[in-house]
Amino acid sequence: MQTVKMYDAVVVGAGFAGLYMLHRLRQQGMQARVIEAGDGVGGTWYWNRYPGARCDIPSMEYSYQFSDELQQEWQWSERYATQPELLRYANHVADRFELWPDIQLSTRVTACRFDADAGLWQVTLDPGAEVQARFVVMATGCLSVPNFPDIPGLQDFDGPVYHTGQWPHEGVDFSGRRVGVIGTGSSAIQSIPLIAEQAQSVTVFQRTPNYSIPAHNGPLDPDYVADIKANYADYRAANWQRGFGADFRDNELSALEVDDEQRQAEYEARWARGGLAFLAAFSDLVFDDDANATARDFIRNKIQGLVEDPQLAAQLTPDTPVGCKRLCVDTNYYETFNQDHVSLVDLREHPIEAVDAGGVRTASQAYEVDCLVLATGFDAMTGAVSRIDITGSQGQRLADKWAEGPRAYLGLATAGFPNLFLITGPGSPSVLSNMLPSIEHHVNWIAECIEHMQRHQKSVIDAQLAAEDEWVEHVNEVADASIYPRCNSWYLGANVPGKSRVFMPYLGVPPYVEKCREIADAGYTGFSLG
Ligand code: FAD
Ligand code: NAP
Repeated sequence: MQTVKMYDAVVVGAGFAGLYMLHRLRQQGMQARVIEAGDGVGGTWYWNRYPGARCDIPSMEYSYQFSDELQQEWQWSERYATQPELLRYANHVADRFELWPDIQLSTRVTACRFDADAGLWQVTLDPGAEVQARFVVMATGCLSVPNFPDIPGLQDFDGPVYHTGQWPHEGVDFSGRRVGVIGTGSSAIQSIPLIAEQAQSVTVFQRTPNYSIPAHNGPLDPDYVADIKANYADYRAANWQRGFGADFRDNELSALEVDDEQRQAEYEARWARGGLAFLAAFSDLVFDDDANATARDFIRNKIQGLVEDPQLAAQLTPDTPVGCKRLCVDTNYYETFNQDHVSLVDLREHPIEAVDAGGVRTASQAYEVDCLVLATGFDAMTGAVSRIDITGSQGQRLADKWAEGPRAYLGLATAGFPNLFLITGPGSPSVLSNMLPSIEHHVNWIAECIEHMQRHQKSVIDAQLAAEDEWVEHVNEVADASIYPRCNSWYLGANVPGKSRVFMPYLGVPPYVEKCREIADAGYTGFSLG
């Protein structure tokens, strides 16, 4: 008879979340196993190898803080690290903390079934095997399942088709090629300028324009690095008090309480500094339409200044609130459209009808291309978890429970699925924050919770339905008071046809962290421990 391997915990995914979760569980003396579908660690930074891929939160912040030795010794080379550097960092962490023996690559978790009598999860792996674990931690990522557009004829295209989220590891040479790019989100905005440097021509198919702020990327100033490293703990602590958990220099003034000159000066300073901190120029940009409109007008003027052809500038200018879809950060994005070999097809006027062997056909014209880049995003936040066949204690399937949208208590657990934790799950700040600190916060919370269970000889923890319902309602209330539900973003699942339209992340890092602390300190209120 084949023996089924038994672990204290199975962690699904070897991105930044899975790596740190493994480290924490091992520190607690637990036998944990990381199962990763890819052939390497790093998650996002393993898969997204398109030209220009890099973080948009400065590297000094988009990095682990759990080990002071690690944050002191690691040298970031640029303000925003490139994908290869981030991937090297993930591998360095796996080496430095000797994580490899407990990581199983090239293996996908396909199903998890809770055996209530044994108090164990039965975990099915592909290639075929079955393992058991007391705990399962979903470190499966919020942006790890590529969204392939359902365009008729796509499979008939003669040339290669690349999705930014599954980029070939050997790279792609676009020299002398006519490239079609579908999508104008962050991945497209980062890659288009670099693809245009190589390609014979680039045709960008834009369904919705996006706001982008210049990155002003460059080598890191050694004095700035030394300054942060001298006070790293304080720097990190201060960021926990900020709305997005990042050093956005949150302005407490309303955009509507300052005069035009002051407002303009603040926006200009933020544009010159670059990056996502633009969204924290005033306290009410994500809460008040009129305040947001001032930011919108400012960026519109900038786009008009950067793009020489006024008609093209108008096509590249969004009409949605700023930040409603995730703000982008670029290097030469708008300027790239001033080049003769780069053109824009505005799909709002002429939607794509089909792809055929030679290229893309809209209602008004056929565009011949040699290869296609799908920068069409992800089935975000729920995509990876929903693709695992998960059955809870009463035989309920997670896919059924979440059919009308995800429901999770604090984004950490979901009622009826005991001993299963989610890292940066729906209902937590997650993608509305600097993700690395949010990942660490969840890992620490989960590890402490398990430690608490061990101390109190509890073997099973489950979220209570009433507490979960109350939390989900609160998440929606906070979102409804903001600009976020006003446009068709992936935050709402609106980018995936047929997906329920529910706002998934929680807005506000400091109140969230405080709430998690209170719940843990009070002995895990809203959870049943048995
Ligand atoms: P991931 O890195 O997505 O890792 C999840 C892993 O789980 C993947 O490797 C996947 O293969 C594996 N997996 C999933 N399902 C299964 C399964 N069933 N079985 C086995 N393995 C499975 N966030 C920021 O805060 N700042 C940024 O600048 C930033 N830039 C980004 C740039 C890009 C291009 C993208 C796509 C995202 C970016 N993000 C950024 C978000 C980013 O996803 C997070 O910052 C972070 O890397 C997520 O780490 P993770 O470990 O939670 O998930
Ligand atoms: P995205 O923001 O979802 O953008 C996808 C783009 O594809 C959108 O412009 C979308 O148009 C378009 N699209 C989707 N389906 C289409 C279809 N059938 N026909 C035409 N157009 C279609 O995806 P992403 O750019 O990959 O970014 C996802 C997230 O990952 C970001 O928001 C960010 O959080 C993270 N990211 C960060 C960075 C960074 O700078 N560090 C870089 C890349 C990604 P609509 O808007 O009309 O749906």
